[in-house]
This record gives sequence, C-alpha cells and structure tokens, in this order.
Amino acid sequence: MHNVGTAYAAYEAIVEGKPCVSRFTTLCGQALKTPKNFEVLIGTTTDFLFELCGIDTSNKQKSIVGGSLMGSELRSDKAAICKTTNCLIAASVNEFQTPQTEQACIRCGFCADVCPSKLLPQQLLAFSKTVDTTQLLEHGLFDCIECGACDYVCPSHIQLVSTYKESKKLIETRRQDLEHSDYWQQRFQFHQYRVKKEKDQAASRKVDASVKPALAAGPAVKEQHDEAGFISKEQASLDIAAAVARVKARRDEKNK
Ligand code: SF4
Ligand code: SF4
Repeated sequence: MHNVGTAYAAYEAIVEGKPCVSRFTTLCGQALKTPKNFEVLIGTTTDFLFELCGIDTSNKQKSIVGGSLMGSELRSDKAAICKTTNCLIAASVNEFQTPQTEQACIRCGFCADVCPSKLLPQQLLAFSKTVDTTQLLEHGLFDCIECGACDYVCPSHIQLVSTYKESKKLIETRRQDLEHSDYWQQRFQFHQYRVKKEKDQAASRKVDASVKPALAAGPAVKEQHDEAGFISKEQASLDIAAAVARVKARRDEKNK
C-alpha cells in the first residue's frame, strides 16, 4: 500500500520520465493559521513552509515530521524536506500530552492486541533491553512498521517504537560492519595471493636462466644417447644437476 504522494512520484518517474525533485507534503497542527497541502521542492526548509501557513510561534510546542503516531520530533525547523517528508505538524502547546515517565512493563498485552503486524511488542522490548539480536530477528523486529499503536495504548507509557528504532539501527550497523570486514578480508587475501604468485614467477624465471646453459648443450648431449635410444650416463647427470639447481634456486627465493 502506498500513499498518494508516492504513487504520484512513481507515475511521474515511469510515465513521464521525471526524476523525483518535489514531494506532496501536508502541513497541519494547531499552531498554523492556515494548514495546507503543498507540492514542495526537495531541500526546502521547514520554517519557510510554516511561514507560508501563518505560524503562531508563541503557541508552538514542537515540530513533528511524519504524522502524529508514526512521526518523530524535529530537532530544528531548518530541516530540509526530503522525498519521504509526507507530513509536518506544528503542534500547539496543548495539542500533545507531555510524555509521562516510563514505568515497568506490567505484561498487560494491550500492545500485542493492537499490533497490525501481529508481533509481540513486549517481547521485542525485553530483547531490545538485553540486546539479544538473534531473538529480535526471530521475533520479527524488522516486520515492525513503526505505526506507534503499541506506544499509544501502553499504560506504562513505555516508548516502544523509539526502542525498536534503536535496535534496528544497531543491527543494521553490525550488518554493515560485517560486510565491510568480509570485503576487506577478501581484498587482503587476494593481495597475498598476488604477491606469492609474483614471487613464484620470479623464482621460475631465475631457474630457467640458470638451466639455460645446460639446455644450450642439448645437441651435444643428444649425441650421448646410446644406439638403442636409452639416455646416457652423462645426460642423466646433466638432468639431475639441472633439477637440483632448480630446487636450490626456489629454496633460496623462499628464504629471502
Ligand atoms: S502495553 Fe506496555 S505494559 Fe502492556 S505489555 Fe505492552 S509494553 Fe508491557
Ligand atoms: S509499532 Fe511495531 S510493534 Fe508497535 S504496534 Fe506498530 S507494528 Fe506493532
């Protein structure tokens, strides 16, 4: 399921071949005199849009990006609009309850009852606290759509969604670290392989150079084969000497 802004951006990209340079954004909240929908160029700052809607700064408590349940508080009104900014709220002083102090989970199960992804939010909370990433993945942390319903109903005022966001960030960071580590390990192993190959090739060239004189004497040696075609004693001695020279050269090369 996509929202209208995303569907429109997909239409423009596929049918008209346009890149995503703007975004439909809803501006609302009781601190605005005239809430509106805008098509906004990406990069426009939040305070510019609030001004267009006639903001009453004396009545503004906080700015929220992304809706009242799923949204997060903006740290600055100079934040830029990006392709995912679907909604901005300029909340008045009385619009949202001030966050209450978190209490311990009483295992009431209200959060599980409302979860649209059929997760066990209280379990995810417990695994997040112990940073048990295996259990978090097994219990479907990444299936959480961060709708905020569990936060809303929790009688202990636990900030469940922000805890899940932190856990997701942690798991993603670890995954990226592992990927980087594997990549650089492969590069290192390939470097070692290349250095060894170059050394072996140099050693082999050296051996070829040392046995060249013996090979140059080939025709004379051939004459030392007996009539039946068996190798002569002199030829055998020369072959053994060449093999010994090759082994010695390789050993010297390795010991360097
Ligand atoms: S709603 Fe809150 S208190 Fe109840 S089980 Fe879920 S996390 Fe625990
Ligand atoms: S925020 Fe996640 S865990 Fe909580 S109700 Fe929504 S989908 Fe379920």
